Formats: sequence, C-alpha cells, structure tokens
Amino acid sequence: MSAALQLQDDRERIYSRLTSKSVMTPNHEWLACMMASWCAGQGALPDYLGLEPERFEQLTNHLFPGNNIPQHAPSGCKLDFSRMLEKDDLVNLLKQFSNADIAEIDWIIAVIVAGCLGNDHLWQDLGLWSRSQLSAMLHYNFPALAAKNNKDMKWKKFLYKQLCEAEGLYLCRVPSCEVCIDYSKCYGSEE
Ligand code: SF4
Repeated sequence: MSAALQLQDDRERIYSRLTSKSVMTPNHEWLACMMASWCAGQGALPDYLGLEPERFEQLTNHLFPGNNIPQHAPSGCKLDFSRMLEKDDLVNLLKQFSNADIAEIDWIIAVIVAGCLGNDHLWQDLGLWSRSQLSAMLHYNFPALAAKNNKDMKWKKFLYKQLCEAEGLYLCRVPSCEVCIDYSKCYGSEE
C-alpha cells in the first residue's frame, strides 16, 4: 500500500473509532474528520489542534470521550502564532458572523484560525476531507459571511480579503478581480 493510501486508511479507521458511539451534530462530524486527519499525521494543525490546552481537553472530553487522543501533533507540525499579527482580527471577524448558540463555535473558530497559518488550501491545512466540507462548515457556522463569497474565492484568500476591507486596506493591485493578473491565486480550483 502506498504511503498516501496508508494515511487515508489510518484516518478512516480513527474516524470510525471517534464516531462510533455518538449522535453527531454537523460540527461534531467535521471536528471528527479534522481530528482523525490530525491523529493520522495529516494537515497543518499543531499541538492541541491549535487550541489552548484546556480548550482542547474540553473538546476531547465532550466530543470524543474514551478515546486515547494525543496532545501533540502526530505530524510534528508546529505553527508560530507569534508571526500571526492578524490573529485577533481573524477571531473577531469569525465571532462577529457566528451564531453564538452553536455549542462548538469557539472550537471551530480556533481551528480555522490555526489552519490559516498553514501553507496549503484551508481545507487541507485543517485536515478536512474535501473543499466542499469546508464550504459546508463555513456556511453552517458563519452563514452571512460565507454568503459573501459569491464568486467562490479560495477560502483563505476570502477571509484575509475581509480583514483588509474591514481596515479600509485595499492591497490588491487593481480595483476589480476580473482584470487582475493574480486572479488564479485567489480563485480557481482548491482541490
Ligand atoms: S484577484 Fe486580484 S483584485 Fe481580486 S482579490 Fe485577488 S489579488 Fe485582489
């Protein structure tokens, strides 16, 4: 079996274990996918899934009790939050558009912010299994924000563009995406 197939096999086995006993909410399902990838060494999420240690413990106890989940990223991935000057702005943006009644919202926001520090597409950095999963997760948790991405911009680019616009910063070189030479960096396939 190739290394990629082995990783996929590991991920699916862990996912089955994580989800065997519970009735799943949509966020529970997506968090289980991310957790399974993380435990299998995939994605860019660091130790504690990018959460504060006590928050990580709450998440594992609440959603995946009885599972022997490590605290440190099996991939060895480290992310340097000290180079993420926009961290608070990103958290605030997501909070502003979130539904506070959703029980898992703080965990979802924290992992998305951590994923934004990775170098691949956001769904890959998060360890989600497809871009469509990420789109569904964002529409479920941040419906008004996700609806603004009506031209299907790449999600990480889209989130950062919201930060720039909120600050009145327009770092793009042209006023319209349609005539921009960087179009393919912001739009196009994220697969
Ligand atoms: S395509 Fe060009 S103008 Fe549009 S967001 Fe990207 S960099 Fe900015």
